[in-house]
Amino acid sequence: MGVEAAYLGLVRSGELKRRVAAACARLEACDLCGRECGVNRRESSAGAGCRTGERAVVSSYGPHFGEEEPLVGSGGSGTIFFTWCNLRCQFCQNYNISQEGDGDEVEPEELARMMLTLQAQGCHNINLVSPSHVVAQILAGLLIAAEAGLRLPLVYNTGGYDSLKTLALLDGVVDIYMPDMKYADAGVGQRLSKVGDYAAINQAAVKEMHRQVGDLAVDAQGVAQRGLLVRHLVLPEGLAGTDQVVRFLRDEISPNTYINVMAQYRPCYRTYDLPPLDRRPTASEYAKAVRLAEEAGLRLDERLERRSRLVWI
Ligand code: SF4
Repeated sequence: MGVEAAYLGLVRSGELKRRVAAACARLEACDLCGRECGVNRRESSAGAGCRTGERAVVSSYGPHFGEEEPLVGSGGSGTIFFTWCNLRCQFCQNYNISQEGDGDEVEPEELARMMLTLQAQGCHNINLVSPSHVVAQILAGLLIAAEAGLRLPLVYNTGGYDSLKTLALLDGVVDIYMPDMKYADAGVGQRLSKVGDYAAINQAAVKEMHRQVGDLAVDAQGVAQRGLLVRHLVLPEGLAGTDQVVRFLRDEISPNTYINVMAQYRPCYRTYDLPPLDRRPTASEYAKAVRLAEEAGLRLDERLERRSRLVWI
C-alpha cells in the first residue's frame, strides 16, 4: 500500500466539495482549458472546442498494462478513456475516440462506479486519459467515489493544453501529472493541433504541475506514488522540437524530470497528405531525440533503451 492519495484530505475537510462546485460553475461560460471557448455547456455542446456538453463521454475503461512501467506495476493502471478532446491533432492515434466521438455519456455516479471497479480489480492508480475538457465531471465523480472508499492516486494523463486556473482546482487532488509536451514552436502547434499557443500554454502548465507534485517518486516496487512524468512523441524532421523541450525541462523544471521519449508515431487520420507526417520517424531521428534527452541529463523511461533497440527490427 502506497501513501494516501492526495484528495482524501480534501474530502475530509470539505474542500473537494467546494472544488466540484467551482468547476461545475465554470461549465456555464467554459474556460476550463486553454481554448477558453466561453460557451454554456450546461445547455449544449455547440461552440465547444471539445464538442462536450454537461456530461463527460467515456469510450472505455479497464486495467491497462501498456502504460509506463511506474504506472503499471503488477496490477495495471486503471485507465478511463474520455471521448473528445480539446486539441485537434492531425495525427491522433485515437482519432475515432478524440475526434469522432466514439463513447457514451456518463453521469458522475457512473464515473465513480468505474473508479471503484478499477480499484477492486487491483489497479495501482486511476489513469484519466484526455481529462482536460472534463475536469468538472471528473471532480464530481471523484467526490462520490472517494466518499464510497476510493483511495487510489489519480493520474492526470493530458495532451498538455491545460489552463492554470483549472490546474489550481486540481492542486491537492492529482498525485501524478502525465502531460504531453508535443511541440515547442507556436506555428507547429497551430498546424498540427489547431492551437497557436500550445507551446506557451503547455510550458506554463508543466511548470505548475511540477510545482504541485515535484519530481516523480516511486515506492520500493517501482510504482509511481506522486510527481511529474512527461511524454514526448518524436515526430519526423524534428517537428516535436525535442531539443527545446528537453532544455526547457532541464533548465526550468528539473534535471530529474522523468521523460518518456516515445517512438510509436505512425501516419494516421489526416497525415497521409501532410508530409513529413506521412512517414514514421527514421531510426536516426528517434536515436537523436533520445540522445538529446540523455545529454540534458533527464531521467529516461527505463523501457526506452529496449524499445529503441527493438522498434525498427
Ligand atoms: S473545455 Fe476547453 S475546449 Fe471545451 S468548451 Fe471548455 S474551454 Fe472550450
